[in-house]
Formats: sequence, structure tokens, C-alpha cells
Amino acid sequence: MKIRNPRTGVYDHEIAPLDTVAVENAAQHLRVRQKHWGALSPDRRSAVLVAFADAVESHSVSIAAALAIDTGRQAISQIEVDGTIGAIRRWAARAPGLIAAASPCDQPTAIPTIATSTRLVPYPLVGVISPWNFPLTLALIDAIPALAAGCAVIVKPSEITPRFIGPLMAAIAEVPELPLLVIEGDGATGAALVRAVDFIAFTGSVATGRKVAAAAAEAFIPASLELGGKDPMIVLASADPVAAAHTALRASIVNTGQACQSIERVLVARSIYEPFIAALVNAAKSVRPNFPDIAVGDIGPFIFDKQAAIVQAQIDDAVAGGATVLAGGQIETMGGGLYLRPTVLTGVTPAMTLMREETFGPVIPVTVFENVEDAISDANASHFGLSAAVLAGTVEEAEAVAVRLEAGAVSINDGSLTAMVWEVEKTSFGASGMGPSRMGDSGLLRFFRKQAIIRQSGSALPISTYAEDAQR
Ligand code: NAD
Repeated sequence: MKIRNPRTGVYDHEIAPLDTVAVENAAQHLRVRQKHWGALSPDRRSAVLVAFADAVESHSVSIAAALAIDTGRQAISQIEVDGTIGAIRRWAARAPGLIAAASPCDQPTAIPTIATSTRLVPYPLVGVISPWNFPLTLALIDAIPALAAGCAVIVKPSEITPRFIGPLMAAIAEVPELPLLVIEGDGATGAALVRAVDFIAFTGSVATGRKVAAAAAEAFIPASLELGGKDPMIVLASADPVAAAHTALRASIVNTGQACQSIERVLVARSIYEPFIAALVNAAKSVRPNFPDIAVGDIGPFIFDKQAAIVQAQIDDAVAGGATVLAGGQIETMGGGLYLRPTVLTGVTPAMTLMREETFGPVIPVTVFENVEDAISDANASHFGLSAAVLAGTVEEAEAVAVRLEAGAVSINDGSLTAMVWEVEKTSFGASGMGPSRMGDSGLLRFFRKQAIIRQSGSALPISTYAEDAQR
């Protein structure tokens, strides 16, 4: 399978997607290795994870370089590598304590002679299927806690961004005890993986998420689904309009808007609309594509050419429906890469695809509201419910609106904070996902089944206890 380079448009890389038989063989092999891994103490597993963090650190230059080719952007590739090393170290430090706290021993029950203990039993083999927008982060975000729990893990990253797999596997090879395999493959490989594992952790689009959920139901395994969003940002009248414009811009266009938690709809109070939109357009026009030098500029090319076409179609549809483009608006081909400067639109309506479907590009549709009730109901008028943001003069005012939003996480006086905060649990609302939180403690604890050990220290009851005439 030939792979496109996002900066040149040239198909300069190849992968050989694993077929069903290869996936099944890999799964069988990993299941054998998991028996040893799952029997280790949590502390011992953490020591191995720390060795893995060290190995990723020693391969960080080659991993970051491959990621930069996969994605066409450099600084965020380095952030992905550094963030992943941090995440491995964090889970290694936290897992033993969390596991101990969730495994109570000798708990009394209502029956004086019976006490219980809870054992956490890891799912033997976890499958991870990940998208192309943050290829390393999302390949390992679920894999690390699953490993800490004692599971073996097979990761199938996106076929759009597979170059980092080689250098990552070189790091994994330095930690032979770690039952982690990262495989090349496409959708068919992903589908085979769902059939081969005991738990599937999927990050991707709603459309594929539905297929994975159906396949997981068929295989009768749990699925954690982290899907798309159409995140709204509400800017209340008490907010500083210029600061809010800069926050809205950053939260909408980081990683060229190719982030699930990107702000994709901005709702602004009428009284501050004029200074807000002026500052937003001004700031949007100063954003530089990182072309021709990858190391200079603010946003990279589209990673996936088909996504660029979707984004342009949404903009064109909005313009055809009467929207006005105040900045950006047209994808530019530079050196074979596809770039879009931050695109600010007004005059958008709820019927436009731009306002209904995920855009996944640096596009900021702005609408005006007269009263807060309208803003809340417009923000909630979406089948997505991933996250949202509210900006106001005070935290309290913003929070009063935040709690009325149908979203799994709400940033207060900032945007897209879920990209930075890993400690708090959050559940995707609506079509944005299903299953337990990947963040916070449940990020680890979801990979266990609970086995109750129930001890009888008295005499076991005889059948006569249940005799029809025993109560007389
Ligand atoms: P996608 O759904 O097209 O692909 C995701 C993965 O699924 C890829 O690895 C692909 O090969 C695989 N796949 C395709 N068909 C499959 C099948 N039938 N069975 C199993 N696997 C299959 O998504 P994408 O375009 O790579 O990623 C972008 C999407 O991911 C956006 O919607 C974005 O919002 C979402 N996303 C969500 C989060 C989150 O945490 N909620 C994070 C990042 C991205």
C-alpha cells in the first residue's frame, strides 16, 4: 500500500497491511506472552514501563523525525514524543497504587461469617486502533494503561501515518518483556484485530466507530470508543473580546484543526461581536503555514488529502448558502502539500454541513447570540458531545453556562483544555463516544475484570435451610 507524503504529495512510502491470518498469529503469540506479564506484580510491570520510557527517549530523534514526515509538522511531533514519555512515566508511577486501592481484601459482608476480596483480572489481549491526527499519542494513549494493568496490547495505527511505527518498534525491541506490538495495516487489518482481541480501544471517526462497535458486539467484547466532535465555544458578553479571539483562534487551528477537541463553532455575544471578530480576523491573517521550511510557521499542511477535500467542500457549501469568508477560505497547494490558512466565516446557518458535521480543519464559523439561552440551545444542537468551552469575565459566570452544555468536558476561560489535562475523568456525550473514560483513574481500571473471592469461615448452609417447610 503506497503512502502519501503530506508535504510533497508524493507517494514515497509503502506498508504491507497485515491480513487476518497474520493478525491472528500475532494475537496468539501475544496471548502467550501475556501470561507471564499479567502474573508480574504491578511494581515490576511499572519498572518495565519505566525502561520503555527510557527506550522511547533514546529513540526520540528517529521517532520524532518519522512523525514529522507522517504529519508534515515538526514541533507538535516533538510534543507528541515528549508527552508520550511523560504519560508512560506517569502511569508507571500511578498504576501500583491504583491497583492496590481497587483490590480490597477481607471486606466484611452483611453475613458475619462471609468476607470478600476483590481481584483485578486484566483482559488478556487489548487491541488499539488509532487515527492519523496525533499518530504516536493516540497509538499509545490507551496502550500504556492497558500494559500497566497487565494486558498484552496490539496497536494498529492509521495507514495514513505509518512511518513512526518502525522507530517505535525499535524502542519496543529494547524492552523484550513488554508485550506490545504495533502493526501496519488498513481498515481490514483493524477489522481483523477487533475479532482477535478481548477488549478494543478505538479512536477515530463516528462512521468507523459504529462499525467497530457492531463488530465488538458480534465478538462479544467491550469497546472503548473515542470519536469525533463539533465543539462549540461560547463567548459571553463579559469576556475580554480580544483575548477571547486569540483563545478561539488557537483552540480552533492547532495541528491545522486536525484535533478531535478543536473548537469548530464559535458563538459570540452581540455586545462584543465587533471587537471580537476584528481581532479574530486580524490574528487569523497573521498565522503562517510552515512552508517552505517545516521549522518555520504556525500550522502544517493537511495530513490526509481526502480531509482537505472535505474541508474545502464544507467551506464552498457554506459560501454557496450565503456565508461570508473573512479570512482564508481556499486551500493552497504549495510544494505538493495542501495548506489552508485559518478560515473565518460569518453568516453561517445550522443547516450548513460546516455547522453540522465535523470539519477537522482550521475553520472558524462565528455566529452571534442575543441572549445566553439561545447560545446554550445552539451549542447543544449537535449530535456530537465531545467537549466545549465557555469564556466569560469570571469563572463562576462561565461555569453556570458550562454545566448546561451537553459535552463530556468543558474548558472554562480557555479552549481545548482536554488536550493538556489527563487527570480528570470524562465521558463523551452523544455520538462522540462510548464506554468508560480514557482519562483519570478509569483510564487504567477499565482494562480489568473484577473477580470476587467470597470466603465462608462458618459452616456452609445445608439444603434444609431452603426447605419449603424450613421457615415454619
Ligand atoms: P477513521 O475512523 O477513518 O480511522 C481510524 C482508524 O480506524 C484507522 O486506523 C483505520 O485504519 C481504522 N479502520 C478503518 N475501518 C475500520 C474497520 N472497519 N474496522 C476497524 N478499524 C477500521 O478516523 P481518522 O480519519 O483516522 O481519524 C479522524 C477521526 O478521529 C476524527 O473524527 C476525530 O475527531 C477522531 N478522533 C477522536 C479523538 C478522541 O479522543 N475522541 C482523538 C483523535 C481523533
